[in-house]
Amino acid sequence: MGWRSPHPELSLGETPILSSPGAGSSLSLVSTTEVSPATVEAPTEDLDVLIVGAGISGIGAACHLRSRCPGKTFAILEARDAIGGTWDLFRYPGIRSDSDMFTLGYSFRPWEDPRAIADGPSIRAYVRDTAREHGVDRAIRFHHRVVRAEWSTPEARWSVEVERTDTGETVRLSCGFLQICTGYYRYDEGYTPTFAGAERFGGPIIHPQHWPEDLDYTDKRVVVIGSGATAVTLLPAMAGRAAHVTMLQRSPSYIVALPSVDPLAERLRDRLPPRIVYSILRWKNVLLMLGSFRVARRWPEFAKRVVRRGIAKHLPPDYELDAHFEPEYEPWDQRVCLVPDGDLFAVMNAGEAAIVTDRIETFTETGIRLASGAELEADIIVTATGLNVQAIGGARISVDGREVELSDTVAYKGMMLSGVPNLALTLGYTNASWTLRCDLVSEYVCRLLNHMDERGYAQCTPKAPPPSVAIKPFLDLKSGYVQRSLDALPKQGTRPPWQLHQNYPLDRFLMKTSRMEDEGIEFSRAGRGVREPERVAA
Ligand SMILES: Cc1cc2nc3c(=O)[nH]c(=O)nc-3n(C[C@H](O)[C@H](O)[C@H](O)COP(=O)(O)OP(=O)(O)OC[C@H]3O[C@@H](n4cnc5c(N)ncnc54)[C@H](O)[C@@H]3O)c2cc1C
Repeated sequence: MGWRSPHPELSLGETPILSSPGAGSSLSLVSTTEVSPATVEAPTEDLDVLIVGAGISGIGAACHLRSRCPGKTFAILEARDAIGGTWDLFRYPGIRSDSDMFTLGYSFRPWEDPRAIADGPSIRAYVRDTAREHGVDRAIRFHHRVVRAEWSTPEARWSVEVERTDTGETVRLSCGFLQICTGYYRYDEGYTPTFAGAERFGGPIIHPQHWPEDLDYTDKRVVVIGSGATAVTLLPAMAGRAAHVTMLQRSPSYIVALPSVDPLAERLRDRLPPRIVYSILRWKNVLLMLGSFRVARRWPEFAKRVVRRGIAKHLPPDYELDAHFEPEYEPWDQRVCLVPDGDLFAVMNAGEAAIVTDRIETFTETGIRLASGAELEADIIVTATGLNVQAIGGARISVDGREVELSDTVAYKGMMLSGVPNLALTLGYTNASWTLRCDLVSEYVCRLLNHMDERGYAQCTPKAPPPSVAIKPFLDLKSGYVQRSLDALPKQGTRPPWQLHQNYPLDRFLMKTSRMEDEGIEFSRAGRGVREPERVAA
């Protein structure tokens, strides 16, 4: 579908959009018309910024935009009917964070609960309360899935095609800047490998991404396939009520037990104001996390010994640590699993749960036959086998009529794409809490928008690095879900501004202080010619 000029004069009608019409002024509600699919040709509304996704990063982006760019009109387009993204979607027993809330929380809103590891509903409430307190909840258009975004250089605008997930209608909006906050995985289906004989199994086979609300596992034998954060969460959460829970893993992961309540938070909370306590805990955890990551990368053998000693403390002396807790990869080649208060080991010691390390030969009518010949009896099988990575929420993007393949682009400052104007991807860290980086990206977007306004620019287009800069994959985790997706992700360069740092203090310094106009980005005023998209050699 080609680009049509925006027709803001059509913007009168029912759906409220949030518009913040000037510094210091109060918010106003503007109304817009819903147009039937037959008549939807041109954008029905034109906004300064469209944020895609109302998860933790989309709500954060909107809060930053409201406070730092008060004159900008914006809306949040959300495919589902709820705020919270991951923290609303996942409903499996025990769902919780696996990084601490003092860093998973927003920079601008303290997490005041002393629990460092929080359950899903508490995180969902925190995101919703933030949206409400900052007044950005009224800017959300639920049931709006972005399917295409087309950039026009002559117009210096994105034309965004949206599918109404409730009515099936197509709506078109336009904007000057697109901030993508769609997370990193597919919402419609999790990753499940093909298991031989799966159709023979007599009981339910459940993926944690689609947990049935009414699933009764009381006195049932449950086998959880997987070894990641979800599997180690499910075991203690289901044990006790289930007859028995077995975690069946092909190979072990690194597991670290930590206190769920931060002792320093307990000590400080009655003595200092919440903001100061939050800031202290946040920096303590950022530095601890970064320090342990660096140590693990530099001295992997030492890190392995520390992790192993930590596990051994919780299990009987004759437990087969080598078989079930000795990963085949180095620490931080994949995310490390966190176990609050050693809850996993407690249910193992109580005989309510166990870990089996083996390969699946086939599902049977009554369970799973393993390569070793052993049989695991099961009434319910849970496939905690991961996610399907998806960038930009599955939307297609084009620039001046040319489709953009993400793998042909190089990320600029880890947040924009070479050859793609006025678009930011809000992606978090893989070795630290997601929100730490999302906050930085959103702040940077605000700096960028204000800079463009000050200089009268309409377009900013990141450039691909010169041939002297080597290109490498966007992510360096060896996890299956990352490896399966590398072809669908942008690349990164080996030096700034094309390098993606997994380092919050460094990023924080660079994102807050680096020059807006550098060798990696080009600014122009409206309608200055059509650029050829830049391609990167594979
Ligand atoms: C079970 C689980 C536990 C996790 N625990 C942690 C943790 O402890 N710490 C950590 O740092 N990270 C964790 N993560 C990673 C986690 O996803 C991020 O921390 C964070 O919640 C992602 O937030 P987000 O807003 O960027 O994306 P999401 O939470 O994925 O939200 C994206 C939103 O965008 C919407 N959307 C997607 N596509 C479109 C589209 N085309 N149009 C419109 N809307 C769209 C979705 O409906 C959704 O509401 C966890 C992930 C999972 C799955």
